[in-house]
Amino acid sequence: MNQSHIKLFIPGPVEVSPETFCAMSQPMIGHRGSGFQDLYASIQPQLRKLLFTQNPIFLSTSSAWGVMEAAVRNLTSKKVLNCCCGAFSDKWFDVSKRCGKEADQIKVEWGQPILPEMIDAKLKTGQFDALTLIHNETSTGVMNPLADIAAVMKKYPDVMFIVDCVSSMTGVKIETDALGIDVLLAGTQKAWALPPGLAIFAVSDRALQRAATVPGRGYYFDFLEFKSNHDKNMTPSTPSIPHIYGLKFKLDQIEKEGFENRLARHLKMATITRDWAKSRGFEMFPKAGYEAITLSCVKNNKNIDVAKLQKALKDKYKVLIDGGYGQIKGKSFRIGHMGDETPATVTELLGQIDDCLKTL
Ligand SMILES: *Cc1c(COP(=O)(O)O)cnc(C)c1O
Repeated sequence: MNQSHIKLFIPGPVEVSPETFCAMSQPMIGHRGSGFQDLYASIQPQLRKLLFTQNPIFLSTSSAWGVMEAAVRNLTSKKVLNCCCGAFSDKWFDVSKRCGKEADQIKVEWGQPILPEMIDAKLKTGQFDALTLIHNETSTGVMNPLADIAAVMKKYPDVMFIVDCVSSMTGVKIETDALGIDVLLAGTQKAWALPPGLAIFAVSDRALQRAATVPGRGYYFDFLEFKSNHDKNMTPSTPSIPHIYGLKFKLDQIEKEGFENRLARHLKMATITRDWAKSRGFEMFPKAGYEAITLSCVKNNKNIDVAKLQKALKDKYKVLIDGGYGQIKGKSFRIGHMGDETPATVTELLGQIDDCLKTL
C-alpha cells in the first residue's frame, strides 16, 4: 500500500482498507467450478438478510450504470417515468431515451426531493409501466422519502419500481420486500467501501416475469440470463472474482459489527458533519429534512473558494473532499462519510477543514 496516498472523502469512490484489498488478493478460481459456486452461494443469504429480501441477488461486473440501463431495457414495455432531482437521476431520463424507450420525467430543482404526490399524479394517467427513483441523489445530497413513495407505488402494481441506492446501500436500512421494490441496485465503490467495478442488484419475481415479455434485452445485462445462471450459483459471464472475494469479506465484517451498529455509526457521522456545518455558518444544500446520511452536500453560502480549500486539504493533509457536482460546482462542497469511516475519522477531517478554512 502506498502510505502517502490521498485519502478519499469524496462520495465515491471511497477509501478502501488494506484488509479489504488483502481479502481480494486471492488465487483465481474457475467461474464454472464448485469453488466459485460455493463462494456465490455463501454470500446469497448474507446479501438477502442485509437487503431485507427473499429475491435473488445478482452480481454484475460493471459499474452501477450498467444495471441502471439494464433495468430500463428489461422492464419497460410501454413507458418509463424517470424521477429527476440531480445529476444521476437527470441522466437516467437521458439513458432511457438512448435505449429507445418511451420516457417521461418528473423534474424538481436540485436540492429538492421527489415527493409521493408528484408520482401519484403522473402514474394516475396509466401511461407508465416502469419508474426509476434514486434513493440517495449523491450529486445534491438529497435522500428521497423512499417509504412514502413506496406506499404510493403499492397502488400501481403493474409499474415496475426500480430503485438506485448506489450511495445508500449498507449505510441506510432499505427493506426491499416490504417496500415492494422490483429492482434494488448499487455499485460497490460507495457505502460498501469496495473498489469500483461490481454492481449488486435484487430482482423481484414480477420483474423477471415482465422481462420475459420485453424484447431487445440484449445479452450481457439480460435479467433472465442472470436468473438462469443464478440458479446454478453462477453469473452469465466471467465476473470480477476479486470483487466477490472482497464482497464476502465485507459481508462478514458487517455481520461482525452488527447492521444496527453500522446504521448508527453512519447516522452519527452525518449528525457530526451537519452540526459542524451549521456551527461554522454553512447551510445544507438539500431542503431541510431530506439530507442524505452517507454524505453531506454543504451549501457554499459563505462564498468560500472551494477549489482552494480542496487544494489546501490535499497539500497539507492528503485528504480529498468534493468541490460540488455539475451545475453546483463551487456553489457547494460534498463530504462522503460512509463505508469504513467512523465518527473519529470524520471529526479529524472536519478539524483539518477548519484549519484550511483559516488560510483561505
Ligand atoms: C455513483 C452513482 C452512480 C453511478 O455509478 P457508476 O458506478 O459510476 O456507474 C449512480 N447513481 C448514484 C446515486 C450514484 O451515487
